[in-house]
Amino acid sequence: MLVTSSYSQFRNNMAASMTARAATRGLGAATSKHLLLNKLKLQRNWLSPKRWLNLQEYQSKKLMQDCGVAVQRFFVADTASEALEAAKRLDAKEIVLKAQILAGGRGKGVFDSGLKGGVHLTKDPAVVGELANKMLGFNLTTKQTPKDGVKVKTVMVAEALDITRETYFAILMDRSCNGPVMVGSPQGGMDIEEVAASTPELIFKEVIDIFEGVQDDQAIRMAANLGFKGPLQRQAADQIKRLYDLFLKVDATQVEVNPLGETPEGQVVCFDAKINFDDNAEFRQKAVFAMDDMTESDPTEMEAAKWDLKYIGLDGNIACFVNGAGLAMATCDIIDLHGGKPANFLDLGGGVKERQVYEAFKLLTADPKVEAILVNIFGGIVNCAIIANGITKACRELELKVPLVVRLEGTNVTEAKRILSESGLPITAADNLDDAAKKAVAAIKK
Ligand code: ADP
Ligand code: MG
Repeated sequence: MLVTSSYSQFRNNMAASMTARAATRGLGAATSKHLLLNKLKLQRNWLSPKRWLNLQEYQSKKLMQDCGVAVQRFFVADTASEALEAAKRLDAKEIVLKAQILAGGRGKGVFDSGLKGGVHLTKDPAVVGELANKMLGFNLTTKQTPKDGVKVKTVMVAEALDITRETYFAILMDRSCNGPVMVGSPQGGMDIEEVAASTPELIFKEVIDIFEGVQDDQAIRMAANLGFKGPLQRQAADQIKRLYDLFLKVDATQVEVNPLGETPEGQVVCFDAKINFDDNAEFRQKAVFAMDDMTESDPTEMEAAKWDLKYIGLDGNIACFVNGAGLAMATCDIIDLHGGKPANFLDLGGGVKERQVYEAFKLLTADPKVEAILVNIFGGIVNCAIIANGITKACRELELKVPLVVRLEGTNVTEAKRILSESGLPITAADNLDDAAKKAVAAIKK
């Protein structure tokens, strides 16, 4: 149930970094189908209080250029005529047109205009205009997007180069290494997930000492493992070191280049770019965070984030109001067990204020799918009385129209129960989680 639902934030962030993380553990993309792993990833993402920053490829490439990383000349366009103009201005032997969305797998994606492929090569600028026409304003679906895809609002028009070989290279923070690690494969390109799954021996790792940085011998060894030979090996090692400089400079948690390619003219070039950033560094990365493109985010998730709430939309009709990722998932599962379907889950988190409870209720009740609300709070850090006050205030002011089942447990619960029962509001109290789920499902069936 959790796996197939549309939790866009989780999906966008995790899908992009999955390849590299999977590679570091010798796991392939196939593992994404496993519920347990997804639950763990979901929890991991939930630990961060805010949504993660995502940048488009062209924005990442700009950051790379600033660090002397080899990327091609490019222009960005929002309309087909701008794309055509850009293609002419580029004056390149061959041009590559790339749809800009925050998900990978574009090369093998499909547009709802019928066009196949989010990345196209052509020698004719006129063709760039025609293709851009079938990209801009249409949805592109890839294996990393929701099934309806993501609307393309920008395209990148870049100089194309012949690629003789595609390798995979990434630097990421890895918990098991207690720091940054380089991951590379000589078999890069569009099927890297497949490589990680079927030939894990072709994935190479180098653990980086955070105090020492990337050493010359490490960079050369990685370049050699990526299959770069002769003078190309030095060039690749140099690119690797520059990518590490970028990783540090922008406080990245991941820099992924797939493909890191080789041209017949003997150049090593970064053809694609995906950077993830550390949210905790926002205060000193103002310029980077100012580029944040939030237009692909779910508006409800963004509204929730404003109040430091974690909201994830699902397909059912019972809203779940909980604290903590584990409790949220347990709540969803037990609703499912009783034959119901969660409409969403909203995680209050720890040191919660009455105002947040109110805003949370506002978000839940604004969803027309919601036919009942289940509150399931285990008060540890959370004071149940604050929750109870927030609930009663919200019920009165928002004139709640759907049944409300409340299960409170833990800190100050007696006081909380008194507040609820003396409120005179039609709130159904539940003794435990099982009871709560049963009552919420029954409330809908009525
Ligand atoms: P995605 O990873 O989203 O599929 P990429 O940027 O990796 O998108 O592009 C897909 C493929 O298109 C690359 O693996 C490469 O073969 C080709 N490609 C991308 N950029 C260029 C370029 N500038 N010149 C030539 N080929 C390119
Ligand atoms: Mg790629």
